[in-house]
Amino acid sequence: MTDILNFIGGEHIAPVSGQFFDNIDPAIGKPYGRVPDSGEKDLELAVRAAKNAFPAWRDTPAEQRAALLARLADLIDARLEEFARAESIDTGKPIWLARNVDIPRSSANLRAFADAAKTFSGQRFEKKESQSYTLRQPIGVVATISPWNLPLLLFTWKMAPALASGNCVIAKPSEVTPMTAYMLSQLVNEAGFPQGVVNIMHGRGATIGAAITRHLGIAAISFTGGTATGIDIYSNAAKQLKKVSLELGGKNPTIIFADAEWEKTVEGALAGAFTNQGQVCLCGSRILVQAAIYDKFKEAFVAKTRSIAIGDPLDEATRHGATVSQPHMEKVLGYIALAKEEGGKILTGGKRKMMAGRCQDGYFIEPTVIENLSPGCRTNQEEIFGPVATLMPFADENEALAIANATPYGLAASVWTQDKARATRMAQRIDSGIVWLNCWNLRDLDTPFGGMKKSGIGREGKQRAMEFFTEEKTVTAPR
Ligand code: NDP
Repeated sequence: MTDILNFIGGEHIAPVSGQFFDNIDPAIGKPYGRVPDSGEKDLELAVRAAKNAFPAWRDTPAEQRAALLARLADLIDARLEEFARAESIDTGKPIWLARNVDIPRSSANLRAFADAAKTFSGQRFEKKESQSYTLRQPIGVVATISPWNLPLLLFTWKMAPALASGNCVIAKPSEVTPMTAYMLSQLVNEAGFPQGVVNIMHGRGATIGAAITRHLGIAAISFTGGTATGIDIYSNAAKQLKKVSLELGGKNPTIIFADAEWEKTVEGALAGAFTNQGQVCLCGSRILVQAAIYDKFKEAFVAKTRSIAIGDPLDEATRHGATVSQPHMEKVLGYIALAKEEGGKILTGGKRKMMAGRCQDGYFIEPTVIENLSPGCRTNQEEIFGPVATLMPFADENEALAIANATPYGLAASVWTQDKARATRMAQRIDSGIVWLNCWNLRDLDTPFGGMKKSGIGREGKQRAMEFFTEEKTVTAPR
């Protein structure tokens, strides 16, 4: 059992209230530690520490800030196995995924923004009568709020640019998956960050999260999570004109044309649907297949889905672990029941997976494929965020686009075709912040990242995140 502590002003401390709540391992359905139930008094301490640390951190040369971020990345890498195991236990994700994706990407995030710190700069404007340049200055005390699906990956993706650009940070991981953020907090002093530059607050979204969004001493919030929470945060922030970046939900289409390269496409659609038990905002949960190959694709996809290795997340061979919590499992199973009511035919899966041995009380759901649903039904419109994919046939490009764009979301899409001209046309006409052509979730951290419509406001990625966490100042003089 681990008692997690807040990290404030360079020290690990218990919440002022002395209250903790259980941290549950979703693969076994039992507590394995406790999380501080932090409140406004704890936040006050963190904001004060961050405010005190800001002037010196702002004036620290960017190269030095970069060195500290890179050092933190090295310290994580040196503990890859410990971090991967903790992430797997906290989330229920296969350790294979945590070791090969989540944790390496977390240190890659820190290194990407260490690089960005060294190169980020303003612009010059030379005119007949004037010469100007722009400066980018850090905002001050900023907050990051991140979700449970990719805990350390998204925690570092937000914290790194905030620090790289010279802000002091109050970072809140999800109450459901606080462990790796806590482990990172144990490396911050060793990496050499001055006290108060990095502050990590644990607790419930509804209390400490909401308090962060209302606090007058916090000037910007970078949030990743659900759309409903994003709307709450946006309205709280609006009252104080806080800067806000929102990365929200998705209902992403995977669009497969008859000429797509077969093996690569079936594998890509499978990874897109079920990676991390379908709990990735970028998951392609609506699979649109051209009518000419619909039956052939259905057969291959269902067969592949049935072959996914479901198991104990700590087992090396497991590729499909537990969903993150009991309430989340129930929500996903509720959507499967809804799909049946809406006329959906379950092609495979559709149930809680009962496991033997250690995981007998775990929150596992079979990878599920459903067909026979209309594009406009709730199952095809609302974010399920679990291992549930629907199949829909389409006749031609126009129909594929109409279905793809007809949801409130616009985060990501993948298009599978060997026709380059068609791929280009689709990329132009799909309403989503990210379009992958013949691939899924191929990420270049330098590129802008974010969604349209109800999938968010603003973009992350190297340049965009550095812009978000800084204020631009124009300096002009006569020639
Ligand atoms: P939530 O919106 O429930 O939570 C996200 C974070 O916000 C958590 O840290 C949560 O804390 C906190 N929070 C909850 N309520 C409030 C509040 N009122 N004020 C401030 N903070 C609050 O999302 P989930 O954790 O359930 O994550 C899943 C969602 O995240 C999905 O919709 C998914 O699509 C989205 N997501 C989007 C991504 C993107 O890049 N667009 C990437 C990954 C996920 P706590 O958990 O402690 O309640």
